[in-house]
Amino acid sequence: MSIKVTSVSKIYKTQKALNAISFSANKGQIIGFLGPNGAGKSTMMKILTGFIKPNSGTVFVNEIDVLQNPKEAQKNIGYLPEHNPLYTDMYVREYLQFQAAIFKVDKSQIELCIEKVGLTAEANKKINQLSKGYQQRVGLAATILHNPKVLILDEPTTGLDPNQLLEIRELIKELGKEKTVLFSTHIMQEVEAVCDRVIIIKKGVVLVDKKLSELQDNAQQI
Ligand code: ADP
Ligand code: MG
Repeated sequence: MSIKVTSVSKIYKTQKALNAISFSANKGQIIGFLGPNGAGKSTMMKILTGFIKPNSGTVFVNEIDVLQNPKEAQKNIGYLPEHNPLYTDMYVREYLQFQAAIFKVDKSQIELCIEKVGLTAEANKKINQLSKGYQQRVGLAATILHNPKVLILDEPTTGLDPNQLLEIRELIKELGKEKTVLFSTHIMQEVEAVCDRVIIIKKGVVLVDKKLSELQDNAQQI
C-alpha cells in the first residue's frame, strides 16, 4: 500500500480541521482529493508529507511511518504545495539545479525531469517569463527530481486557463503511470478526467471514497 491514513485528527487551537479521517491508496493509483474550501485537504496533505503533526492517528507512506520517520518518508514523497511557490527571478534550469542541490539529488536527474514535464524549450527562460501553466510544470519538475514513488499535489490546476488546465491534467496522468498520485481539486470533472478514484471530504470528514467506475454507477445518490 502506498498511502495509509488511519483515524487522523487535527485541531488548530479551536478549529477542528480533520476529524478521524481514514483512507488508503494502492500503488499506481491516481486519486482525486475533492472538497470545498476549508474541508481540510491542505491540512491532510501537510500531515501526509510530514510537515505538520496530527493530534492523533497514524500515517504511512510506502510502509514508512511518517510521524516517526518524516525524513525517511519524505524521500518517497514529491510534494507540490498550494500556489506552487517558486523563485520566479531564477531561470528554469538554474532553479531546478538549486532544488537538486538542496535535496541532494544527482544532477543527472535535472535534464530527465525537464524532459518529462515538457520544459525542454523553456529551460533557459526565466520562470517569470513563463505562463502559469508552464510555471506549474516547473513546480512539477521540482517535485519529481528525487524520483519519489508518491506525489502529493495540492490544487495543481487552480488558476490555470482551460488549455493549460488540460495540459497539466495530461501531465499528471502521465506521471501517474509510474507513481501513486493524490491531488486535490474542487472540480469534479477534473477527477473524472484524470483519476481512478475519488475521495470527497467536507469539514474534515470523508463523505465518499470510491473507484470512479463505482461512482458513475451511483451518480444519482450523491
Ligand atoms: P482546504 O485545503 O480543504 O481548503 P485547509 O486544510 O486549508 O482546507 O483548512 C481546513 C480548516 O483548518 C479551515 O477551517 C482552515 O481555516 C483551518 N486552518 C488551516 N490551517 C490553519 C492554521 N495554520 N491555523 C489555524 N487554522 C487553520
Ligand atoms: Mg487547500
